[in-house]
Amino acid sequence: MMTVSRRIFMRSAVLAPAALATPALLRFTDVAEAEGTGAAATPHFQSRMVGEIEVIALMDGMIRRPPAMMPGYDEAKARAAAKLAHRPHDPEGMTLGINGYVIRMVDRVIAVDTGSPAGLAPTLGGWHTALAAAGIAPEQIDTVFLTHPHPDHVGGMADLKSGAVRLPKAHVITSETDWAFTFDVAVYASSPKEVQGGFDVTRAMIAPYETRKTLITPGAEIAPGLTTVPMPGHTPGHMGLRVESGGENLLIWGDLVIAPAYQFANPDWAFALDNDKAAAAATRKKVLDMAATDGVMVAGMHLDFPGFGYVERAKQGYAFVSAPWDYRI
Ligand SMILES: [Zn+2]
Repeated sequence: MMTVSRRIFMRSAVLAPAALATPALLRFTDVAEAEGTGAAATPHFQSRMVGEIEVIALMDGMIRRPPAMMPGYDEAKARAAAKLAHRPHDPEGMTLGINGYVIRMVDRVIAVDTGSPAGLAPTLGGWHTALAAAGIAPEQIDTVFLTHPHPDHVGGMADLKSGAVRLPKAHVITSETDWAFTFDVAVYASSPKEVQGGFDVTRAMIAPYETRKTLITPGAEIAPGLTTVPMPGHTPGHMGLRVESGGENLLIWGDLVIAPAYQFANPDWAFALDNDKAAAAATRKKVLDMAATDGVMVAGMHLDFPGFGYVERAKQGYAFVSAPWDYRI
């Protein structure tokens, strides 16, 4: 485990100067060409129960991004926040994990986001190998629920080169707002080039599912015990998913927190890719406060793997406390 982590870190450290030169969260140049040529991440998965429902975290990988991607970033505050959170701090680049989750019920297998295309960075694209390691075949997935359609959440859905679907039996559920936003001609035309690159990747990944999709309004129930929760800001239709069974709860919150070392202590720090930064910050504060008050277990796509834990109020802002191992699995 340790050698793997170090290997991934070293690889990303070598890549860092090029990556840091780009202001975008993810670089999209030649993603299709690069896909499959990157070293596959060693598969990691972790299961736990929420009542009768099994939730499996899948590690897609990690990426390093410059702190300049957080408009409110302050070096001294960031260092202090990371220290309080017992997290590594490097002023040159933040390490951001990418996770997907799979919900396994008696008669359903639902993917909640699908990781990143391998072409976005050599340290990404492990979602399918993690899925296989968890013993789940792609054709067993009957539904893909997307918290929002960004490239690092739709990566496992299709082959960028051939356009072939990689989850052949899956039906897609996402918000009506975000689907429309993704394919909006005017939004695309008015976006900077690197954002257009992101739209290109997302469109290529989700368009093959055009004829088998259900577009919802956040708040809707998508299966017994699975209720969506509106969390607008990061994207207009961004949403979480509340899993409820046998008196237990889990809130999978998508991209509510992107940089866990800093944003729990500083929930007002937005991220470059937040579509509406003020709305994203307001949503983040509201959901963190609710999670701390209710004591609900949370999970997130950019929390350090496996991302299961709890939110507590802290001396400054909030703190994340990892959930204990679930021995019921
Ligand atoms: Zn994301």
